[in-house]
Amino acid sequence: MTSTIAIFGGGPAGLMAATHLSGHGHAVTVYDAMPTVGRKFLLAGKSGLNLTHSEDYARFRTRFGTASDTLAEALDDLKPDALRAWADALGAETFTGTSGRVFPRAMKGSPLLRRWLSDLQEKGVTIRTRHRWLGFEGQAHRVDTPEGMKIIHADAVLLAFGGGSWPRLGSDGRWIEPLRQARVAIDDLQPANCGFDVPWSPLFREKFAGAPVKSVTATSGADAIPGEFVISRTGIEGSLVYAHSATLRDRLRQVGQAFLILDLVPGRTLTRLEQDLSRQKSGTSFSNRLRKGAGLDGVKAALLRECVADCVSLAPKELARAIKALPIPLDAPRPLAEAISSAGGVCWTEMDRTYQLKRHPGLFVAGEMIDWEAPTGGYLLTACMATGKAAAKGMLAYLAAAKG
Ligand SMILES: Cc1cc2nc3c(=O)[nH]c(=O)nc-3n(C[C@H](O)[C@H](O)[C@H](O)COP(=O)(O)OP(=O)(O)OC[C@H]3O[C@@H](n4cnc5c(N)ncnc54)[C@H](O)[C@@H]3O)c2cc1C
Repeated sequence: MTSTIAIFGGGPAGLMAATHLSGHGHAVTVYDAMPTVGRKFLLAGKSGLNLTHSEDYARFRTRFGTASDTLAEALDDLKPDALRAWADALGAETFTGTSGRVFPRAMKGSPLLRRWLSDLQEKGVTIRTRHRWLGFEGQAHRVDTPEGMKIIHADAVLLAFGGGSWPRLGSDGRWIEPLRQARVAIDDLQPANCGFDVPWSPLFREKFAGAPVKSVTATSGADAIPGEFVISRTGIEGSLVYAHSATLRDRLRQVGQAFLILDLVPGRTLTRLEQDLSRQKSGTSFSNRLRKGAGLDGVKAALLRECVADCVSLAPKELARAIKALPIPLDAPRPLAEAISSAGGVCWTEMDRTYQLKRHPGLFVAGEMIDWEAPTGGYLLTACMATGKAAAKGMLAYLAAAKG
């Protein structure tokens, strides 16, 4: 007898689950609240669609913080090479960029999504959009549809609602309350890969909002990472900030204070910089000392003045120290709605190894709605799709066992 499978959420996690659930004789339906599926996937495509990363897989596996060990089994079953092969087979050939990040040659998500959806259609998967999951109705699911409220029954169900960033694309976190009421433990969603508010002076904000700060290194603790970021009207944004955002966010939450520490002149040692600054003639203006002695002007020189109140009067030794370890004070992470991704979500203690909820046999979860986070670099999409595949396998095993 044909079993029915419902997947709520048509992002990369839900669609990858559908891929692996099709072709097994079950009736698979993907339901999504939005008028079309994969909206965040398409947005990710606007910056090229960084699908995965080509670094050594042993290193790749460690990118998921405290969840790395728990995610490992799913990742092992959909390694970056396998994900690339899948995209290539759908006609969205991939390439490795200079940073090791992997992108489709088209540098966007739409061709891949189009082919993915037509592949699912050929495999008999049904997609129903404008179907919003509202919660449970006994063992069934209450769904708001254009034809009114429906109660949907299925033999196995996957929830793949995404996290809480960019809610207008569909993943709005409204699934949290109904799941909590069903006794599923969920850690509050928090911004991940996010910018931060900085108490800029009005003058600095007016002059430098939008300015890129290039060729610096930044640290929030142990790792000094080279890169660049952007001054925004409210604070700082960009890849170098995102790389430190988990540490900075947690520190703000725990101790109420955090600084991003910048090395404005990473190419010079502290000693060398001190010597270069000492060589400047007395009577030289501060701007000229910075420009000639440290190669600093524009936004970098302004950042120094903004963050070190008395920098004009510092001796070369202290000035060199300030330039090599400039503390940008942070007020708060930017709101979750603006973040690239979310931390928090369904707690790992709630699931078994197959991504099935322990308290709800036959109900599985996948993707960003689970409590893990990772930096940018293709790790997010890879883990979403890997957990989608793992949950699909779990559902097939569950249905097989149910049939006896
Ligand atoms: C600007 C931006 C750029 C990004 N770039 C990259 C990148 O280059 N590489 C990378 O790895 N990651 C990137 N990401 C992150 C990546 O897009 C997400 O991690 C990924 O899309 C999450 O997949 P998901 O399937 O778990 O959830 P989502 O993609 O959020 O999909 C969830 C789906 O569930 C649906 N849904 C939600 N609630 C309901 C409900 N109640 N009923 C029915 N349906 C519902 C939504 O409409 C949505 O279609 C980016 C994110 C952003 C915001």
